[in-house]
Amino acid sequence: MTNKYMYFIANWKMYGVLKTLNSLNRVISFSKKNMKSKIKLIYCPPSTLISMLSKKLKNSSIEIGAQNCHESQKYASLTGQINSNMLKDAGAKFVILGHSENRQSGEENKLINKKIKSALKVGLKIILCVGETLKEKNKKKTNKILGRQIKTCLNGVKKSSNIMIAYEPVWAIGTGLIPNSDSLKKNILYIKKKLKNKSVKILYGGSVNSKNIRDLKRIDLLDGFLIGGDSRDSKKFIDIIKKTYN
Ligand code: PGA
Repeated sequence: MTNKYMYFIANWKMYGVLKTLNSLNRVISFSKKNMKSKIKLIYCPPSTLISMLSKKLKNSSIEIGAQNCHESQKYASLTGQINSNMLKDAGAKFVILGHSENRQSGEENKLINKKIKSALKVGLKIILCVGETLKEKNKKKTNKILGRQIKTCLNGVKKSSNIMIAYEPVWAIGTGLIPNSDSLKKNILYIKKKLKNKSVKILYGGSVNSKNIRDLKRIDLLDGFLIGGDSRDSKKFIDIIKKTYN
């Protein structure tokens, strides 16, 4: 695992105000000290902070992602919406799409597919989240759900080199639970099998912390982690990164 590029993506969700960005100084200096390593850091703050964060990270190798976007890259009379062009203009290079917290509020695979195409068109890279709920897992529907999410979300998508998949079992997000390594491996292999482009990077997300990273890092099918709660504390975030390598 340590010989390849590893992605550590911070998903701040609906947390953070301007002042919070000061807490990143620690991560910025960590990243400068590790310039030559194969660590890729991406911060996905709320949209309100993208522009300021992009100024702050100007001389750093840390990149910025957004957490969602509207499916149209055009400007339109849509109150409260933000499109992929606007995110790119503010400094984002990536966008998380299909996160279960948005799926739970009604976002379906077909809409996510439109969002992916729109974001790719303006040159954003995609972090596509897939994963089964506890109910689906208990009913042994995980493969079916993952297969459908990948098939529909990536339908007609050409630039798959600009896509990463984050496998995030819904029941593992924010719960402290993670899948056992056998079922994690099995599910990642299934995702790989369903992808046309076998070199698409696969991340794991859901309750990643500095304790369970010791087990998770052993799964060499993974190219990194999408981290929610523990990414908001720079010390914990750096700890996760360090323990991935030691
Ligand atoms: P968590 O969130 O690390 O707090 O479980 C992960 C995510 O939702 O991306």
